Parts: sequence; structure tokens; C-alpha cells
Amino acid sequence: MADMELRDLRKTYRRKGRPDVAAVRGIDLQVPSGELLGLLGPSGCGKSTTLRMIAGLEEVTGGDIVVGGKSMVGLPPQRRNIGVAFENYALYPPLTVRENLAFGLSARGVDRREAARRVEDMARRIELTDLLDAKPGGLSSGQKQRVALARALVRRPDVLLLDEPLSHLDAAQRDTTRRELKRLQRDLGHTTILVTHDQEEAISLADRIAVMKDGVIQQIGTPDEIYDRP
Ligand code: ADP
Ligand code: ADP
Repeated sequence: MADMELRDLRKTYRRKGRPDVAAVRGIDLQVPSGELLGLLGPSGCGKSTTLRMIAGLEEVTGGDIVVGGKSMVGLPPQRRNIGVAFENYALYPPLTVRENLAFGLSARGVDRREAARRVEDMARRIELTDLLDAKPGGLSSGQKQRVALARALVRRPDVLLLDEPLSHLDAAQRDTTRRELKRLQRDLGHTTILVTHDQEEAISLADRIAVMKDGVIQQIGTPDEIYDRP
């Protein structure tokens, strides 16, 4: 577990023969250890770009990303202890769910028995035990989303990044997964950024919400502070 700080984080996409896109224009953010921060804003405001920079999947144009007192800028993704469950971060089809979850643990020096134990434990927590020997191709999109979440968590990341984790679920799956996410957050207390364009989702899950627009954070506070609910 670690706290995270973004300092004047910036991203400009430069494109040949076309205008630059200033996608992220100076974000300052402190996420205390164990907090679930909802990053809320309309499509195109820079949420995914921010997550991708934190994960190391996109180079930063300026600023710093500090996790547990250590700068992540310039480190490749595999040298950052950051768990990501992104829609486009696909599961590996030839491997079973169990193998997908264990992937990367051995590379990190976790021995096979310990890796197997962690996978079983995580599968139990988020009710994936029955799916461990299935291949991703046969799973529903809701099940795939839960496997992606489990794969991110099983590494015991310092920071967890979730990009629209409920977006492709039907109403029933959405309720189940939302409850699971809340329980996991309470039990494991990961420092988490959850990206969403859905206000209700942010209100129901986040400790604090940062409202993003046009590449900057406009407002930040608890759901009650931001929405002044009865
Ligand atoms: P969000 O996740 O909030 O929808 P994005 O971070 O995906 O926002 O996009 C922010 C802005 O950056 C948008 O204007 C988008 O079109 C642009 N953008 C995103 N990725 C690229 C890219 N690879 N090249 C150029 N522009 C991009
Ligand atoms: P680690 O878990 O060791 O940090 P990453 O998740 O950062 O590894 O991924 C390292 C590389 O492996 C990336 O190029 C990523 O696209 C790829 N990768 C991630 N997950 C899988 C998987 N389940 N199967 C195959 N390749 C994967």
C-alpha cells in the first residue's frame, strides 16, 4: 500500500500534419494510501490518458507521478507496482483464467506454490473459483471484467487503476460487481483511481471524486461535498 501524488502532470499528443492535442493540462492530485478516488468527467476530458501515464503505457509530456515517495516517470510498466484493469488490456486467450491470473507473479519472483495460493484466494474473494479452468474466450463480458480485476489485484499492487469497470455489464452484473468492488476496497484497502463518466457510479464507490474537464481537475471533494445530497 502506498500513497500517490500527481504533480503538474501533462500530456500533449503530437501528430504529424495535424494540430497537437493537449489532453492533460496540468493535474495536481494527492491520493492518500487506501483511498478510492473517482475520476469523473465526460468522454474526451483526459481520464484514460491520465491512467495510461500512471500505468506507464503512455509517456508523460511533463510533471511527475510519485508513488510511495518514488517517481514513476521513465520506469517501464513492469517496474511499477501498479495493477490495471483496462478494457483494452486483454486477457491472454490460450491461457486458462488461472494461468492468466498467475501470469507475471513468477516473473516477479513469487514461487509457484505461493502464486497458486494467491490466485485461489483472490478467486474466492471475487467469486471466480468456478471459472479458474475456463479459457477467456468462453466468458461473458462481465466475467472477463472480473477476471481482469482479479489479475490486477493478485499482484498486490501499490496502486490500482480501474477504467470504467462496470461499463459493459448489464444492470444485475453491475450491482454484483459494484458490491464486490466495495467489499474488496474495505478488505484490502488499495489506493485506487477509478475512472468513470457515470456520476452515480462515482458517488456509490468513491471516497472522493475529482471532476475533470478539458484536461484539468475542476473540483475535488467527497461525494457529499460535490453533490450536496440530502
Ligand atoms: P477520456 O478517457 O476522458 O475519454 P482520453 O484521455 O481518451 O479522454 O482523451 C483525451 C483527449 O486526447 C481527447 O481529445 C482524445 O481525442 C485525445 N487523444 C487520446 N488518445 C490520443 C492519441 N493516441 N492521439 C491523439 N489524441 C489522442
Ligand atoms: P507484469 O504483470 O509482469 O507487470 P504487465 O502486466 O506489465 O506485466 O505486462 C507485461 C507485458 O505482458 C505487456 O506487454 C502486456 O501487454 C503483456 N501481458 C499482460 N498480461 C498478459 C497476459 N495475461 N498474457 C500475455 N501477455 C500479457
